[in-house]
Amino acid sequence: MNFHVLTLFPEMVEDALGTSITGRAMAKGIIRLHTVNIRSFSLRGDGRIDDYPYGGGAGMVMQAEPVMRAFESLEAKLPSQCRVICLTPQGRVFDQKMAEELAGEGDLVFLCGHYEGIDERVLDEIVTDHVSIGDYVLTGGELPALVMMDAISRMVPGVLSNQESGQTESFQGGLLEYPQYSRPEDWRGKKVPPVLLSGHHANVDRWRREQSILRTLRNRPELLERAVFDKKDRKYLRGLISGQAEEEITLDQITFLSKLLANMEKS
Ligand code: SAM
Repeated sequence: MNFHVLTLFPEMVEDALGTSITGRAMAKGIIRLHTVNIRSFSLRGDGRIDDYPYGGGAGMVMQAEPVMRAFESLEAKLPSQCRVICLTPQGRVFDQKMAEELAGEGDLVFLCGHYEGIDERVLDEIVTDHVSIGDYVLTGGELPALVMMDAISRMVPGVLSNQESGQTESFQGGLLEYPQYSRPEDWRGKKVPPVLLSGHHANVDRWRREQSILRTLRNRPELLERAVFDKKDRKYLRGLISGQAEEEITLDQITFLSKLLANMEKS
């Protein structure tokens, strides 16, 4: 996977991606990072690439020409049809599904904005995807690009030492991950759930599945609407509603689950 990043702060991107798991993947050549400093394409002698917005208003805007020239400087290295992602709070919100989809690309270009953003005309010219990492405003596109590259890298074969661990994380199968425990068995009087010490793999898998459902219900109930449940899951859901399951849930959660089950049974 080749990541190309158009940025005003290449060192920020290089330092962060070059650390830990992504750094190791870069050292192995599984992912490659190529940054382009937009400032090098300033039309003025002072390295500035921003100017006042037409129509007035606060802040500055990144000019079209330096951004275009920065992009053109790497165009020869890119395959035709390469995705060019503009990081913007106005874009489609990034999620695990998008990470998986983008991991299938060989090259990706990230365009990081600053100030009030980038002149719309160059965006119309080069950008294929507008992506946000959430409904809040950051000072620049570097952190969003890093968030995306990190999540995408994890989906690239060989980046994680145990590929399995990338397949059992939160959002795989539409649910959050079950709770995790490590040694010691007793930590300050808190015990590891006995089923995890039983060595009974089917029971461990069932317990984890149910904990995933419960955690998703408590933290992100809307995800359950798109999740797929088998017979055993439905039995567990009914147990939660009737109070027969070990875990207690609130009245609101009971109402939510009852509607969910009723809809499932209708379809
Ligand atoms: N004026 C812009 C607006 O209201 O949409 C916000 C500009 S923001 C201060 C500067 C840059 O940070 C943006 O051009 C974008 O690259 C990046 N940015 C800020 N928040 C972001 C988010 N939630 N997701 C992706 N990029 C973001």
